Amino acid sequence: MKNERVKIRTIKNLTHDVLGIVTDKPAGADFKPGQATEIFIDKAGWEKKGRPFTFICAPQEDYLEFAIKTYPAHKGVTNELLTLKAGDNLIVNDIFGAIRYKGEGTFIAGGAGITPFIAIFRDLKAKNALGDNRLIFANKTVADIILRDELQSILGDKFINILSDEKTDQYANGMVSEEFIKSSGAALESYFYVCAPPPMMDAVGKQLAALKVPEERIVKEAF
Ligand SMILES: Cc1cc2nc3c(=O)[nH]c(=O)nc-3n(C[C@H](O)[C@H](O)[C@H](O)COP(=O)(O)OP(=O)(O)OC[C@H]3O[C@@H](n4cnc5c(N)ncnc54)[C@H](O)[C@@H]3O)c2cc1C
Repeated sequence: MKNERVKIRTIKNLTHDVLGIVTDKPAGADFKPGQATEIFIDKAGWEKKGRPFTFICAPQEDYLEFAIKTYPAHKGVTNELLTLKAGDNLIVNDIFGAIRYKGEGTFIAGGAGITPFIAIFRDLKAKNALGDNRLIFANKTVADIILRDELQSILGDKFINILSDEKTDQYANGMVSEEFIKSSGAALESYFYVCAPPPMMDAVGKQLAALKVPEERIVKEAF
């Protein structure tokens, strides 16, 4: 896929600062769940500003779908996406990304780091192969949890949330820690998938090392 112009079918808020964008799917968009592409806005002045975003749809769908956290303060691409509407175009490119499903395990996501896992879970659900996979999803508040209802319905009691900035009866409060990973029921001998902003990647990397999870069992990408 190279410089493929795709029309936006729908664009709407998934949370207060995350946009859900569905576009047409060009021929050659053969991605594996977890992979991303470089997206450009098809608008004068934005032709050279590509940013990586992950497909959240399962590959068998006839559309492309993205969940994009917006940063108005950066005055960059994600802020400009807020001005787009159905019928506008994006340009999508090469497919890449380090996250790929290798087998059952524990997925640990921070904020928008959930996106590769959404595609993986949707694909596993379509194949009736969710198995014993579990998700630890770290956010600031309940309002920040992307696709909460869908993830709850796919994963049931294997959907484990932790909130740093809000106390609720439903979810744990605090940050992901070695203790929290152990108490989530994670099988330490199976795979760990980690996708989060760099500081959380560093912290969780150290926790998994302390839990003696071998490096080759950790599939990760920093956002
Ligand atoms: C493989 C991969 C896949 C990804 N997939 C997704 C995804 O599916 N969904 C998602 O939401 N994100 C995803 N990301 C992260 C996403 O690409 C970035 O959030 C996005 O590039 C931000 O673009 P931006 O133009 O808005 O801001 P940036 O490119 O971060 O910044 C634009 C400009 O703003 C300024 N700036 C930078 N930081 C700040 C700051 N803190 N305050 C003020 N100004 C600042 C700088 O001058 C910078 O040049 C992914 C990242 C990777 C590596």
